[in-house]
Amino acid sequence: MTDSADSRDHFIQLKNVSKTYQLGETQVPALKDLNLELRKGEFTALIGASGSGKTTLLNLIGCLDRADSGEIILDGQPVSRLSERELGDLRNHKIGFIFQSFHLIPVLNVFENVELPLTIRPEIPESERKSLVEQALKDVGLETFAHHRPDQLSGGQRQRVAIARALVKRPALILADEPTANLDSETTRKMIDLLFELNQKRQITFFFCSHDDKLISRVARILRIRDGQIESVS
Ligand code: ADP
Ligand code: MG
Repeated sequence: MTDSADSRDHFIQLKNVSKTYQLGETQVPALKDLNLELRKGEFTALIGASGSGKTTLLNLIGCLDRADSGEIILDGQPVSRLSERELGDLRNHKIGFIFQSFHLIPVLNVFENVELPLTIRPEIPESERKSLVEQALKDVGLETFAHHRPDQLSGGQRQRVAIARALVKRPALILADEPTANLDSETTRKMIDLLFELNQKRQITFFFCSHDDKLISRVARILRIRDGQIESVS
């Protein structure tokens, strides 16, 4: 965790962000006037009970959804003013995602799964694509598993494929939504160590959410979310 507090280099800023879902006749407020700042290279954990708004917040930061009100500034750009196409570009270039259920494509092997985010980037030549995938597999210790399919891997290995797929485009930011929820405690510990290592080595900003207090005891910055609002910061 690089702590260059003096530089205050905010990578992400949320100002009074609100999001309400419409569920039939019912309005479900998911985020209420939420404020948040993340600095470049920081490793932050967001902890909150199920239903507290974690996924909604990650989806907004990841430009997968739009806020109803308030402002989200990502690397100096107010995302509300970007077109769908510009949002897509921002997502494809700067943000990597790790999901709880891995979201691997079963018919593709490990190499092809990791390569996927690069296939929509025609400006990257094939030879460079190949070396980016190889580097990402090396980073997660799966270089000898390139030709395995997901069903030939353990849960921990599958999650490492998902991490490599998030890393492969060299994003500035990785968003992880409960990435350890389906893993046993030993695998979880190893995975958090790996994420820390990547955070340090690659200077990637990590925003990691979980409902489990225990696994984030080593994280420097912890935010707690409750009923759609950041409750405390430690
Ligand atoms: P968490 O990830 O912390 O479990 P979510 O962000 O998924 O929380 O959900 C926050 C609140 O918004 C919950 O009350 C949830 O039921 C509601 N919610 C989430 N997604 C939707 C949706 N697509 N439609 C309606 N309500 C939703
Ligand atoms: Mg969630």
